[in-house]
Amino acid sequence: MRANRVGFDLLLSRFANHGLEPFLESTRSLIVLLSEDGTLISWNHPFDLVKDGAYNSSLLRDFLAPASRHLFDLLLSSVTHDRVKTQGELELLQGDRTDAYTCFLLPLPDEFILFVAEPAQVKSDLEDVKAELQKVKQLLARKEAELQAVLAQADEVSHTDALTFLPNRRQVMIDLQKAVEFSDRYGTPLTISMLDIDHFKKVNDTYGHTAGDEVLRGLAGKLRNHIRHPDTIGRFGGEEFLIVLPHSTVKAAVEQAGRLCEQIRSSPILIGEQEIIVTISIGIAQYKLHKEDWQSLLNRADSALYEAKNRGRDRWVVAEE
Ligand code: GH3
Ligand code: MG
Ligand code: MG
Repeated sequence: MRANRVGFDLLLSRFANHGLEPFLESTRSLIVLLSEDGTLISWNHPFDLVKDGAYNSSLLRDFLAPASRHLFDLLLSSVTHDRVKTQGELELLQGDRTDAYTCFLLPLPDEFILFVAEPAQVKSDLEDVKAELQKVKQLLARKEAELQAVLAQADEVSHTDALTFLPNRRQVMIDLQKAVEFSDRYGTPLTISMLDIDHFKKVNDTYGHTAGDEVLRGLAGKLRNHIRHPDTIGRFGGEEFLIVLPHSTVKAAVEQAGRLCEQIRSSPILIGEQEIIVTISIGIAQYKLHKEDWQSLLNRADSALYEAKNRGRDRWVVAEE
């Protein structure tokens, strides 16, 4: 029975998507998956002969002739730090003798290293290995591109609210803090609007929570359509949204708030057959340059929103200085 069966399966599984299993099964090259410190993770059958002949060690370095170990350390260090393929002639221990191999160390995207060793005298096989390596490199490049796409998507998801697809609270706070920093540095005006749906609890109570979600999504879509660059809007909380208006005084925010109240009030949201009308209240605050921080600005917008609710909702109120 092969001692490394599990190890080989792991190696196979890494290349299963690439159609490389036949190559791994049939090649006479030694193929080993290493961690960055040179620990053996997984290997193919030809490496068994080397491994079975030597004492038990989990480091590839220990299977090399002592004279080759320094060069191996250099190659490993180079592939680990520079993340580029390295290559060198190394002697591997085979029982009492040593055999020369042409060795390649290839960085994999997840910090593993692929070690490929070809008996140095077999030139034609070496060409095969080179061709296969080329293939592996191309496949790795494709995987790398796929990985980048997945990472970009993950980044997008972490900043986006799952229900409304607007920037989430985390992103809104980042936008706000950046806008305040910009305003502080360049002395430009900055205004924010805190917006809340009126009597939204009643929408849930009347039509159900799922319909409530639909209303939130529909409203978020409308708000997004009505807000123009460089203003940004995000979902700040349950049924609360925050608009950041860089380079703007209260005047611009007031005009926008008037438009938004009117537009939301006059365009029902269609949920199935049902037309649902909601209204919004808005609290507006202009940043007091060098006299407050972003938390204080938020608090003032929130108080103004509270005041708009008190005064009967479906309206905007500007925060006091
Ligand atoms: P007000 O005019 O004073 O703002 O009244 P309101 O009912 O809108 O405010 P209240 O804070 O009493 O209730 C907010 C409601 O919003 C309660 C909560 O269940 C609902 N809500 C918050 N987030 C969501 C959500 O993601 N989906 C749904 N369907 N409802 C939500
Ligand atoms: Mg509300
Ligand atoms: Mg609320």
